[in-house]
Amino acid sequence: MNYCFVCRNKTSQNKTICEGCKSLLSRFQFQCKVCATELQTDNNLCGHCQTVSPNFSEVLYACKYESLASDWVLSLKFGQNIAITRLMAELLLPELNKIDDDYVLLPVPLHQSRLIKRGYNQAYEIALELSRLSNRKLFNSLRRSKKTQMQAQLKLNQRNANVKGAFSVTTELKQSKIILVDDVMTSGYTINECAKTLKIAGASDVKVLVFARKSL
Ligand SMILES: [Zn+2]
Ligand SMILES: [Zn+2]
Repeated sequence: MNYCFVCRNKTSQNKTICEGCKSLLSRFQFQCKVCATELQTDNNLCGHCQTVSPNFSEVLYACKYESLASDWVLSLKFGQNIAITRLMAELLLPELNKIDDDYVLLPVPLHQSRLIKRGYNQAYEIALELSRLSNRKLFNSLRRSKKTQMQAQLKLNQRNANVKGAFSVTTELKQSKIILVDDVMTSGYTINECAKTLKIAGASDVKVLVFARKSL
C-alpha cells in the first residue's frame, strides 16, 4: 500500500500520488505541436517554430510549471529532494509511453563544477527513474563542456548565446533515436542546443521529455 506524496491518503495500485492531488496539476489548453509552448488559440505551430525549425521534433511534458509542480522542481534542484523524481517519473510515464520503444533516454547534463556542488544531476535522476519504470536504455553521453550561467538568471535574449557550443558528446550516436530528459523547459535554448549537438553526433531524431513546461 502506498500513501499519496502530497496529502498522505492511501493511493490505489501503488501509485505515489492520489487522483485528487493529481488533478491539481494542469496542462496548456493549446500548445505548439513541436515545442509545446502555450498558445492562445488552436494553431499548429508557435511563431518561433514557424520561422526556425528546432533541432528536436517534439516536446512532451507532464504538467505546467506552476503550484505543486514548480515547488517539486525547486525542491529537487535546490533542496536535495531526489525522492521526488519517483513521482515525476510516474507522472511522465504516460507521455513516455507515446514514444516508440527504440528511443533511448538521455539526460541534459550539468557542468562538472555544478554537479560536484549539488551532488547529483536532477535530469539524470529523473531519467534513471524513467528507465527503471519503462526498461528503456539510458545513455549519459552528453557533457556540458562550457561553464554557463544559469539560464534563469539571464534575460531571454541573452540565453541563446549563453548555451551556444556548451555541449559535447562522449560516444558516437549513429542513427540513434533519443529522448532528451530534463526537469523543466522554459525558453528551450538549452534543450535545443543539446539536441543540435546530438544531431551533429549522428542522432537521427531527438524528442524532448520534460517534467514541467513553463510558459514564456
Ligand atoms: Zn493526495
Ligand atoms: Zn513552437
